[in-house]
Amino acid sequence: MPAIDPVALREKYLAERDKRLRVDGNEQYIELKGQFAKYLEDPYVPQVEREPRTDEVTFAFIGGGFSGLLAGAKLKQAGIDDVRIIEKAGDFGGTWYWNRYPGAQCDTAAFVYMPLLEETGHMPTEKYVKGPEILEHCRRIAEHFDLYDNALMSTEVTGLTWDDATCRWIIRTNRGDEMRARFVAMGTGPLHRPKLPGIPGLDTFAGHSFHTSRWDYDYTGGDPAGAPLDRLGDKRVGIIGTGATSVQCIPHLAPACGELFVFQRTPSSIDVRNNHPIDPDWFDTLQPGWQQEWLDNFTLLQTGGMAERDLVQDGWTDISQRIRDKLLANEPLELTPEAFERAYHDSDDEKMTEIRARVDDVVADRTTADALKPWYRQLCKRPCFHDEYLEAFNEPGTHLVDTDGQGVERIDETGVWVDGTHYELDCLIYASGFEVGTEYARRSGFETVGRGGVTLSDYWADGMTTLHGIHMHGFPNLFMVQPAHGANLISNIPHNLVERGNTIAAIVRHALDVGADEVEVTAEAEQAWMERLEAGGRRFGNQPDCTPGYYNNEGQTPTRARLLGTLGFPEGPVAYFEYIDRWRSTGDFDGLDFRPAPR
Ligand code: NDP
Repeated sequence: MPAIDPVALREKYLAERDKRLRVDGNEQYIELKGQFAKYLEDPYVPQVEREPRTDEVTFAFIGGGFSGLLAGAKLKQAGIDDVRIIEKAGDFGGTWYWNRYPGAQCDTAAFVYMPLLEETGHMPTEKYVKGPEILEHCRRIAEHFDLYDNALMSTEVTGLTWDDATCRWIIRTNRGDEMRARFVAMGTGPLHRPKLPGIPGLDTFAGHSFHTSRWDYDYTGGDPAGAPLDRLGDKRVGIIGTGATSVQCIPHLAPACGELFVFQRTPSSIDVRNNHPIDPDWFDTLQPGWQQEWLDNFTLLQTGGMAERDLVQDGWTDISQRIRDKLLANEPLELTPEAFERAYHDSDDEKMTEIRARVDDVVADRTTADALKPWYRQLCKRPCFHDEYLEAFNEPGTHLVDTDGQGVERIDETGVWVDGTHYELDCLIYASGFEVGTEYARRSGFETVGRGGVTLSDYWADGMTTLHGIHMHGFPNLFMVQPAHGANLISNIPHNLVERGNTIAAIVRHALDVGADEVEVTAEAEQAWMERLEAGGRRFGNQPDCTPGYYNNEGQTPTRARLLGTLGFPEGPVAYFEYIDRWRSTGDFDGLDFRPAPR
């Protein structure tokens, strides 16, 4: 490994960050509406005509991704059968329904990422499973817990309104439905609304184009299972973006395209993948309760705790392992925040130096290799793990067009301009990611109107406030399902969602058992929770010295309102999971008001 000069490294990191800072931050991206709404169309399942629904259900869930599936499963387990999931896609799966680009795979080990493995009896085929297997698992969960029967697919919620007179939520959709539900939960996904890069002239491109979350296999050939993209052999294809999505699909595009132009603004860090098939004999040795043990072990190790064994042993736990090793190597042992900070920086410098050295080892062309090296701390951006991405740049028809942090200059009818050079293209693929941190109603696509006509947008005008990330005062019988204001465990999102499902099922069960028509968090409990989180100051992202991206609000100083939405439990994910388990197990549901309908 090359020698490390920490001071020079820090200067280089800051220079690379400064190069990329821009005043428009999040505003640089184009929202998919109007002429761009075509990029949102569902290419996978045709919409089937049906009569509008005007019936009533006990529990309606908006969103059929892991949030809805897990809440649905937990409600069913708690004996609440009348559950309806409403989903705008043609099937369950959420992010795994939409993201069917070639090579889609999960970076978190399947044994902790894929929920309900013991309940459904599924053995993951590999340590890191591919998209189609996860999509199939989503369908398996839906079938196992009978969630298909009452579901409404290809149905987009357009409005959600609380009706005080009947203590019901009224749900309106783009299919003319006007349903009622006693309880409603929303799990519309943190990275759910695709965005386009704000590049002048983007609307003028006359060739073929699509966003990676709506992959057009009719145009490219191939399929999500990995069949070669056999219609691209005579095509000049461009792809904008080099984030986690691009890293996974470029190895499939590179050998298939006549020529491939990869337009890069910031390189991703590409750590080793080391995937392997799962041995069924080994799988058979796992004892009942194993998945919870793995989840707890992963969360503990990934968030800086100590355990005798690292069961998962992946790129996420490796980061923490290195920090721990450094700390424990101190003589005398020093477990102060300063020692932790030093250990973090030292191990990160080593890790990133290894990652840059790997680029040199793999990529033959020196200029390309240099441009592919990431100059920031590993957790400044979403870390990537891949064993074929860097290799793809050795394909003769693959060209890295590095924009030195500035992004694509402009797009015209026939292609893309960078630094005065025009790249003529037949097809342009946008691997430009998803909206993060825009207003909730914009991302979910509908407004929620609570008691007294107060909208959720107005309620959250000064920032998101909740109890436990689930309840909002003035919005009775409504539950949010997302990771913030709780564990905020970003390395394994489904773990957060399983716990949310457990919590919601316990509350609804209790409400039904005691005959409560309304369940609502008190204003005091919500305020106390937010004060506790704010005082703790534990939050996701927001490191100003990082190169810009959605992890740090595109490098802009976040407002207090934005910061509120990123807060997590002060003592961390392990403590939150213990806390919430205790909270719901006592049966007190401290902070919630269970009451009959007002007469
Ligand atoms: P990202 O937001 O991570 O990447 C968007 C890319 O577009 C970045 O490389 C960005 O550059 C680039 N870009 C934006 N504007 C321009 C421009 N004007 N010119 C050139 N390039 C531009 O989106 P992804 O879809 O890749 O990933 C989104 C998230 O989805 C990931 O962070 C991850 O959380 C998740 N994911 C998870 C996977 C898994 O394994 N579980 C797999 C795939 C995605 P810059 O970096 O400079 O902003």
